Amino acid sequence: MSLKIQNSISGTKDEFKPIHEGRIGMYVCGPTVYSDVHIGNCRTFVSFDVIYRYLMYLGYKVRYVRNITDVGHLEGDVDTNAEDKISKKARLEQVEPMEVVQRYTNGFHDIMRRFNTLEPSIEPRATGHILEQIEMVQEILKRGYGYEANGSVYFDTHKLLKEADIYGKLSGRKVEDLLVETRDLKNQDEKRHPSDFAIWIKADDRHLLRWNAPWSDGFPGWHLECSVMSTKYLGDRFDIHGGGNDLKFPHHENEIAQNYGSCGKTPANYWIHSNMLLLNGKKMSKSDGNHVTPVELFTGDSEHISKAYSPMIVRFFFLQAHYGSTLDLNDTSLQAAEKGYQRLMDAYKTLQELSSSVKESNHSLAGELENGIKAAFEEMNDDFNTPKALARLFELIPTINKLADGQLNPDDAGQKALDVVKKGFEDLLFVVFGLLRENENADNHMVQLDGLMQLVIEMRQQARENKDWPTSDKIRDTLNEIKIDLKDGKEGTTWTIK
Ligand code: AMP
Ligand code: ZN
Repeated sequence: MSLKIQNSISGTKDEFKPIHEGRIGMYVCGPTVYSDVHIGNCRTFVSFDVIYRYLMYLGYKVRYVRNITDVGHLEGDVDTNAEDKISKKARLEQVEPMEVVQRYTNGFHDIMRRFNTLEPSIEPRATGHILEQIEMVQEILKRGYGYEANGSVYFDTHKLLKEADIYGKLSGRKVEDLLVETRDLKNQDEKRHPSDFAIWIKADDRHLLRWNAPWSDGFPGWHLECSVMSTKYLGDRFDIHGGGNDLKFPHHENEIAQNYGSCGKTPANYWIHSNMLLLNGKKMSKSDGNHVTPVELFTGDSEHISKAYSPMIVRFFFLQAHYGSTLDLNDTSLQAAEKGYQRLMDAYKTLQELSSSVKESNHSLAGELENGIKAAFEEMNDDFNTPKALARLFELIPTINKLADGQLNPDDAGQKALDVVKKGFEDLLFVVFGLLRENENADNHMVQLDGLMQLVIEMRQQARENKDWPTSDKIRDTLNEIKIDLKDGKEGTTWTIK
């Protein structure tokens, strides 16, 4: 079984071969930390978490680098003079830009933990690599792929287009289209060609994030950080580069240009692009207000949904679509995901109860079960097809249930096949898909806390009935100290965290 990956750079599904046997270098573009992530961003990071997990499951030693963008991502995205997203937030809130960065980086990590995503091996920050970015600009200039104009430095796309047939390949854009798309940008007069893009930008007075460089007091272009940090930690040629497909152009296209311009090589052998999460049929996006935050989903506090969904249900919901397809967030699909998740977890529980001291068998049932698991892994080898792998597991559930209720004889399935199925469920659900059972789920602490609080409320009630005022007062006061509020009403006592 060999792994195939839909490779955006070749446009075909290619067999995966790592550069160094047994090891993989993977770079994924991380968040711009100027606000809370929305659930669309989370989908992309969960998609790459599953890919990371599966590569490790296959036995590879993976170095997974996912950056934090904390400078250079401008309002309106490309080029000069627009305000940096982080600077803008800092200006509006009258805090240091690094306070903004710290706050939203912490928030991002917290949400990633709730989704049970693994931490990347390295999480470099753009502002921690300014020196390397200046060096890359110098390399690009030295090799003649850039030019300075009025303190800013631009990448010469026309030179690249003349000398190597790589610019526009990833996004499938033609040169003429590139020219049209970039024509209306500011500072075009400084550029030799409208499709050139800034790699170092001279800061104007209001710009807070700035560094001293040979060309001006300024800041790096957004695309530069990923070229620099991927090269620094993975080398100038590595295996996999990933990100949402909205980053193909200009971000990834320009990354390729910069890498080529600085060292004559294109960075990654395989480019993986995940597709967008939609809301109301449109790309979920912060800038046009069409978005839901993870916390809104976890608490049910959103006009788009009727109830709360736990992180594991949402994770399962993501898995039900291939990472390369769009996915629409709505109540109906989330409820279906809730049911599907529960069915699988129930089946796993049944398997745990089933598979002990069963005889060996060469009945056809054994083969049927083992083949079902094999088929699920084959789906994962076919470009990480999580929905099809899940479908293979679902197909096994009726048989598992018949074995449990006696319609089929476990001895016919045999110990080995039952072990294979149980291990297959375990490996796929928990190791590869990164699901947790609800009772392991962090959110379930709330369920535990509620159980505990019901007990406390009952004991207080008892104390009051016994006119044991010191005890009932002590309960209320202690809860008060730890910021839990009790409210006595007609329907009984309820509790809230203050
Ligand atoms: P940003 O913080 O804007 O740089 O985005 C972080 C990541 O989220 C990028 O890889 C984007 O491609 C991805 N992303 C943004 N919007 C969506 C969406 N609606 N669905 C899935 N991924 C998204
Ligand atoms: Zn990037």
